[in-house]
Amino acid sequence: MSLDNIIAKLASIGADLSTRNAVRMALSLVSEDEDLTDQIYVAIKNKAYKEDFSRVPVEKRAVFIPQCLRNVKECPAEFGKYGWECTKCGKCAIGDIIEYGEKLGYKQFYITPGGSLVKKVLKEKVPRGEIKAALGIACWPELAEANEKLSILKIPLQAVPLLRAGCINTIVDLEQVKEAMRLGLGEEASNVGVSANMSPTPTP
Ligand code: SF4
Repeated sequence: MSLDNIIAKLASIGADLSTRNAVRMALSLVSEDEDLTDQIYVAIKNKAYKEDFSRVPVEKRAVFIPQCLRNVKECPAEFGKYGWECTKCGKCAIGDIIEYGEKLGYKQFYITPGGSLVKKVLKEKVPRGEIKAALGIACWPELAEANEKLSILKIPLQAVPLLRAGCINTIVDLEQVKEAMRLGLGEEASNVGVSANMSPTPTP
């Protein structure tokens, strides 16, 4: 059964889907695979926050990119105060994501090694009003966790899962990232192009 069908099934019985734990319990109740908890929770939250995210000006949207997308062997980026500083060398998908985002007007990209740096960025920039929405790329459990934390801060998140997770050389669907970045930007944003639809990081 597809995720959408499972969500529809859960909704049809009036299940509480407001937290990860609630989703897990609801899945158990209808005898569906509890391992789908994070995927279902993230899908529900993406839908719920889509409109709020769309309303935030692009310059106030932060894009969080996991360092595992980098081409670790060849990446010339230096590590700075807010994570890796991509030079857009073309050796992994991150350069394409940033280039495309900049064409749309995005200004904040954070290539981070993990949650602690994300937390630092949010702690500094949310109270100053510099970040009002977030687009996160990560594995399902991290996206589910980020959703829980960001909803406390009232920051709408659009989450894009990695197609291949892991510690290095992960893969993301660039088309899905671009689609999320275009939310709320209208028709003309669709004409902004990049070189490829999907750009897996080369394996070493
Ligand atoms: S495009 Fe990828 S490999 Fe090149 S500098 Fe940016 S993060 Fe590093």
